[in-house]
Amino acid sequence: MVRLMKDESLTASWQGFFEDQCKSEIETLATEYPEKRSLLLDYWDIDKADPKLAELLLHQPYKTFFNAEEALKLIDVSAEQKLQLHFRVKNIPESQKVLIRKIRANRLGTFIAVEGLVKKITEVRPKLQVAAFQCQKCGAVMRIEQDEDILKEPSECYEDQGGCGRVSSFKLSTTLSSFIDSQKIEIQENPEGLRGGAQPERISVYLEDDLVGRVAPGDRVIVNGILHSMARHRGAFRLTSFDKTMDAVSIESQEYAFEEVEVTKEDEKKILKTSKDSLIYEKMRQSIAPTIYGLDIEKDALVLQLFGGIAKEMPDGTRTRGDIHALLVGDPGTAKSQMLSYMSKLAPRSVYASGKASSAAGLTAAAVRDEFGEGQWTLEAGALVLADKGLACIDEIDKMEETDRSSLHQAMEQQEISVAKAGINATLKSRCAVLAAANPKLGRFDEFMPIHEQINMPPALLSRFDLIFSILDKPNRKTDTDLASHILQSHKGGEIHEHLKKISDELYSKDQETKFMKHVQPVFDPEFLRKYVAYAKRNVFPVLTDDALEILQNYYVDFRSSSKESVPFTPRQLEAFVRLAESSARIRLSQEANVDDAKRAISIIDQYLRRVGMDRETGRFDIDIIATGISHSQHERMRLLLDIIQRLCAESSDNSATRADIISEAEIQGIESRKVEEALDRLSRDGQIYKTPQGKYGIT
Ligand code: ADP
Ligand code: MG
Repeated sequence: MVRLMKDESLTASWQGFFEDQCKSEIETLATEYPEKRSLLLDYWDIDKADPKLAELLLHQPYKTFFNAEEALKLIDVSAEQKLQLHFRVKNIPESQKVLIRKIRANRLGTFIAVEGLVKKITEVRPKLQVAAFQCQKCGAVMRIEQDEDILKEPSECYEDQGGCGRVSSFKLSTTLSSFIDSQKIEIQENPEGLRGGAQPERISVYLEDDLVGRVAPGDRVIVNGILHSMARHRGAFRLTSFDKTMDAVSIESQEYAFEEVEVTKEDEKKILKTSKDSLIYEKMRQSIAPTIYGLDIEKDALVLQLFGGIAKEMPDGTRTRGDIHALLVGDPGTAKSQMLSYMSKLAPRSVYASGKASSAAGLTAAAVRDEFGEGQWTLEAGALVLADKGLACIDEIDKMEETDRSSLHQAMEQQEISVAKAGINATLKSRCAVLAAANPKLGRFDEFMPIHEQINMPPALLSRFDLIFSILDKPNRKTDTDLASHILQSHKGGEIHEHLKKISDELYSKDQETKFMKHVQPVFDPEFLRKYVAYAKRNVFPVLTDDALEILQNYYVDFRSSSKESVPFTPRQLEAFVRLAESSARIRLSQEANVDDAKRAISIIDQYLRRVGMDRETGRFDIDIIATGISHSQHERMRLLLDIIQRLCAESSDNSATRADIISEAEIQGIESRKVEEALDRLSRDGQIYKTPQGKYGIT
């Protein structure tokens, strides 16, 4: 921070203030010095005691803080060493709170507060505070206080510092100089303030000494600091336009869940009343993207995702996630993107991103060396970190970068992202639910092909989703009629609305508008729903009843034993059931997840497995299809075929087998020739067999 402008009377006023108001606090600090070295005060406490001083802090902060810190040095306390305390102020008046996008030149040099998400942090670096230069002629040491970015050097060997008074050359001595820790961070405005797809704006903030290393990317903070401008350079030239940056005075972090969503007593009353509605689940569904026709099961699932299950800390230190991950795969033009964009506007703390990475951090996080770091490494948060404790909507996830693919597993399951590179070693939290959409590789979804072959995503990543829905666009007279009528009527309603707004004739009436808009009107408006969700997530932590637990357990065991050869479920699915049941209870604000909740969870998963996890040959659900891309029966067949080829090779003279021989042998074992072809393809793709130049097969 720039150190300047000693003002005797101002220092004296602060000295008086500290003596009167903070003596005991400073004495306590003295006992913990230098571990603790900041006196942090609430603005309003200063205002109460001395409104003039408080006012000066806001409008002449550099000078006022400087003299206040000078005054702190004069306070007489018994301490082992001389105290050098920082003076920090928090909770400054509303009038000083500025949206990052609204920061204008007239705020320069004043004390302001900005609210937002930490997007980037640099590594912590020592910065010169007082530089010690040694004269090369006489050996005297000059100490120069460094208050700017550019190193200030002595112009001569000052006599008043014991030097020889000559113009000389100097050598910087790092051992005699004193340093202070410094860090630069970037704050991005909260997504809540940004409805309508606007790009978030950012501001750089400089932190010093005990403020460094305290925030991580993804944190929600209020930074109180002094707005200042920084010259921009083009090559060696200074430009006349400046960058805006802040020198931090204090940082407040938001810890309370969904602090940004305010629920008043009145809201609470309404929420409690709504929770008792017997049609609550239908009404919730009807409040999700009402302009989108159909997709009822998907919408039910999205409601459950919105409320989420309970994250649990086990005695052995492991943590299981409560967030429900969902994936929509389907034909183009089936409103997937529309749905994601709606959910990202509805859910508190949500981030909308495209798989096609827009920043270096991509979907998770990255350590980069860019302009921001001014030569240092910077840790930058991606979508899943920014959506911590919220919802990350990721469109076209199949188009994501290679680097994201590997880190996404950990980010989704452990909900943490570790980055270790250069001076950066951090673990960031990504405790968010993921709602992703993917398009099929071949343009259209093929019901008869395993899902993993149709989306460009590794099966292991697919298995991290609790729910996967395939949305097909198949012509059907009945649904086409309904969908067309839904879309057209809502457009007509919209036309009447615009007409009434712009033109004052008598052609249309408000009644007509209401009539056409009726079915695209959400039952609960988004504002209320957001409050409802925040309320439920803060206050409702349901526990499974014994009956519900038994239902889930029986379902799991029955399912696994009903099919001997295939493995329909893994413990991962069982966890998905639990999360869905918990969320279902939360929707009713019930502290108990009962039998109905368990059944609702089962029915949703059932629907999803029916569509994507069905083994087409046996008609059974088979989670192997999702986990590995191959059903159990396919797997068996490939093994059988491999045995056949092995035997044929051993019997042949050139250690290979002809296609015709393989097919006829396989037919004896009851495998159709069409399936043999399919399996041969698969085996050679997996590198288990190879084709000889003569067109025969050999074992690798
Ligand atoms: P996708 O991302 O699946 O390719 P989009 O979300 O871009 O599709 O949707 C394309 C357009 O079709 C959007 O304007 C959307 O509103 C419309 N649309 C598609 N399906 C429906 C539906 N079921 N109800 C209403 N509109 C729909
Ligand atoms: Mg799309």
